[in-house]
Amino acid sequence: MATTITTTNPYNNAPLKTYALNTNKEIALILEQAQTTQHKWQATKIKVRTKLLKKLKHALLNEKETLGSLVTQEMGKPISQSIAEIEKCAWLCDFYRKNTEDFLADALIKTDAHESFISYDPLGVILGVMPWNYPFWQVFRFAVPTLMAGNTTLLKHASNVTGCALAIQQLFETAGFPKGCLQTVLADHQQVENLIEDHRVKAVSLTGSELAGRKIAEIAGRNLKKCVLELGGNNACIVLADADLNTHLDTMVSARMQNTGQSCIAAKRFIVEAPIYEAFLEKFKHKVAELKIGDPNDPDTQIGVMARIDLAETLQKQVEESVKLGATIAYGNTRKEAFYQPTILTNVSSEMPVFNEETFGPVAAIIKAENAQEAYALNAATRFGLGTMVFTENTHAALNNTDYIEDGAYFINDMVKSDPRLPFGGTKASGYGRELSQEGIFAFVNKKTVYLK
Ligand code: NAP
Repeated sequence: MATTITTTNPYNNAPLKTYALNTNKEIALILEQAQTTQHKWQATKIKVRTKLLKKLKHALLNEKETLGSLVTQEMGKPISQSIAEIEKCAWLCDFYRKNTEDFLADALIKTDAHESFISYDPLGVILGVMPWNYPFWQVFRFAVPTLMAGNTTLLKHASNVTGCALAIQQLFETAGFPKGCLQTVLADHQQVENLIEDHRVKAVSLTGSELAGRKIAEIAGRNLKKCVLELGGNNACIVLADADLNTHLDTMVSARMQNTGQSCIAAKRFIVEAPIYEAFLEKFKHKVAELKIGDPNDPDTQIGVMARIDLAETLQKQVEESVKLGATIAYGNTRKEAFYQPTILTNVSSEMPVFNEETFGPVAAIIKAENAQEAYALNAATRFGLGTMVFTENTHAALNNTDYIEDGAYFINDMVKSDPRLPFGGTKASGYGRELSQEGIFAFVNKKTVYLK
């Protein structure tokens, strides 16, 4: 069994650093610290907690170049996007600094009691199991509201971004969060299972693949622990015949290609109404060809490398299998190690992996729909439910369709994106539970009914 983790720069395959996994004894001490701190942390005033977010925000902004560079080294994200990710974490800190007190205020409810209300209490120690694709953002959007509610957190980050995990812990400590509020555990999967089983861990939040979601949910279920699951997605971008391509094409390309295609909410399937299909395909190809590919450390680079060679290999298999089933490569499709050229596939049908699986890289599947009704039906023909985007000038009709969208998000004339002010999460195989906004802070609280006769 492995006892170390070695991180690797996916751009040049150079090893970065080797870390020892925590022993079970070390994890026991970490857990004890998390619990001891939680008891004291819960007793602090919300104002004291939110004040620390100001310091955390400044620490992020002051170090955004260094932190961004660490992200780029560990998972290959173009540096401008890495820095933008750090800035987004600072925005999130600001949001919860301003709103936590209101979010957690007792909610009075009129009944026949003299007084009745809901009070929002922390649950205790919460485990976060996090992915590598937005190594700062995913952790911040879990940890900040969870901590503001008075819980403490353990962070089991994806192994390939261990440096980011430790840097995040350091940031919280530098900002003045008591030791034990956020601790990284360098744990293997068995140790994660042991943690979920431990009575001191009250709940778990996983952002990751469907496979990991099924495993974590099973362990949490067996132990009657609450879990939030933010899993994979297979979002469609519906382009209706009246869509304004001149205005929205850049957004559509970003919706697929940002983060080198490694985003859960990316547009993976483009479902295009027949009358606009040829024009869309030509313009889309043109825009994709203009993307600047290169060294992720170059501030102008838009497409770097994927985060690991095995991820690029998986994507290649999905494309090859789809081509065998009749898809056509309309653009791109060269691969070298972790680099995958932005790729466009046409003649895509619903039995192909690029239609019915999550493609986690820069591959766009283009599907022709005869009319809007068929476009919406194709959109729904996936087991995932993270989000749908539609581009159309008839926004009234698009809004009228809201009730028919089964996903966690429906964006009209924009790409699906996360925003601290709005709830974020999925349905079906994309998981359950919500992060961000007031919903995110409610994810790990006991909504306690208080009744005075
Ligand atoms: P992953 O392989 O599922 O890993 C996610 C995390 O889970 C990692 O920390 C991983 O640790 C851990 N893990 C995996 N299997 C586990 C198990 N059996 N027991 C305990 N821990 C386990 O996913 P990923 O490749 O890092 O991330 C990509 C996936 O995340 C995509 O499917 C993407 O759509 C999804 N995602 C979803 C959202 C959302 O908000 N819905 C956001 C971002 C990403 P190790 O690294 O040690 O294996």
